Amino acid sequence: MSDCAYENESNNGQANETKTGIEKLAQNNFSSIKNVIAVASGKGGVGKSSVTSLLACEFKRKGQIVGVLDADITGPSLPKMFGLKSGVRSNGSALFPSISDNGIRVMSLNLLTGKEDDPVIWRGPIIAGTVKQFWTDVAWGDLDYLFVDLPPGTGDVPLTVMQSLPLNGLVVVSSPQDLAVMIVSKAIKMAQMMNIPILGLVENMSSFICPHCGEEFSLFGHAQGKEIAEKFQIPFIGSLPIDPHLSELCDQGKIEEYQSNLFHDFIPEKSIQ
Ligand code: ADP
Repeated sequence: MSDCAYENESNNGQANETKTGIEKLAQNNFSSIKNVIAVASGKGGVGKSSVTSLLACEFKRKGQIVGVLDADITGPSLPKMFGLKSGVRSNGSALFPSISDNGIRVMSLNLLTGKEDDPVIWRGPIIAGTVKQFWTDVAWGDLDYLFVDLPPGTGDVPLTVMQSLPLNGLVVVSSPQDLAVMIVSKAIKMAQMMNIPILGLVENMSSFICPHCGEEFSLFGHAQGKEIAEKFQIPFIGSLPIDPHLSELCDQGKIEEYQSNLFHDFIPEKSIQ
């Protein structure tokens, strides 16, 4: 039998309506979301959550109404980056996201569990179900953009999000190591197999610029972002150098204070509505 997950689902008779087999989930009565953009990486630790947050911050600065859905259920880092510990409310019918200092709406399992370092020891289908509930049961309100921070890899949750949410497309994050490049290629191919448009590639940790002498060092090997983008014929959004100030702000919950031009010219063309 093929290893392809969506072929197997078709084989199980669960998925016959579309090429990916699953109908997109409708928006609930408490949400009107114009654009949904997922952020993916092949490998963990390449800076996917940081890039998701910077993307959200840039769009917020541009005057858009922005939300962030943390689909990295077992490794959630968005609440910490935005300095949020709780703030999710419920009216009995829906959950209302927590709101950051600058007004970004954030929903993460870490905002619902008792302690931020409590582990989530759940099997894949429960985790994927939770991500779907962050779409069906959360009152996002009117949003111009919802950014979805996917867990790394090509497992259950990325598959569920690509199948179930009406995505405009995907931003893919990599870093210069050959290992990260090899694994991000899998994420790109998965999206292409599922007909999800790839809106662009970000190369994170592309270099380190010495704050003292200004010399640029390639700590993880030579930058390859442009080459991968050309190979897969996807847009190259840009590179983000290693910046100790960024990790400091992430740790302090103040990522909204970080200034970056990375997404200045990034405008996804079509909306889902
Ligand atoms: P992922 O979501 O891919 O696991 P994160 O975005 O959580 O990765 O980043 C992992 C760690 O690396 C975080 O502590 C973050 O602050 C730090 N980090 C990410 N990108 C950069 C960067 N460009 N410069 C400095 N630190 C970074």
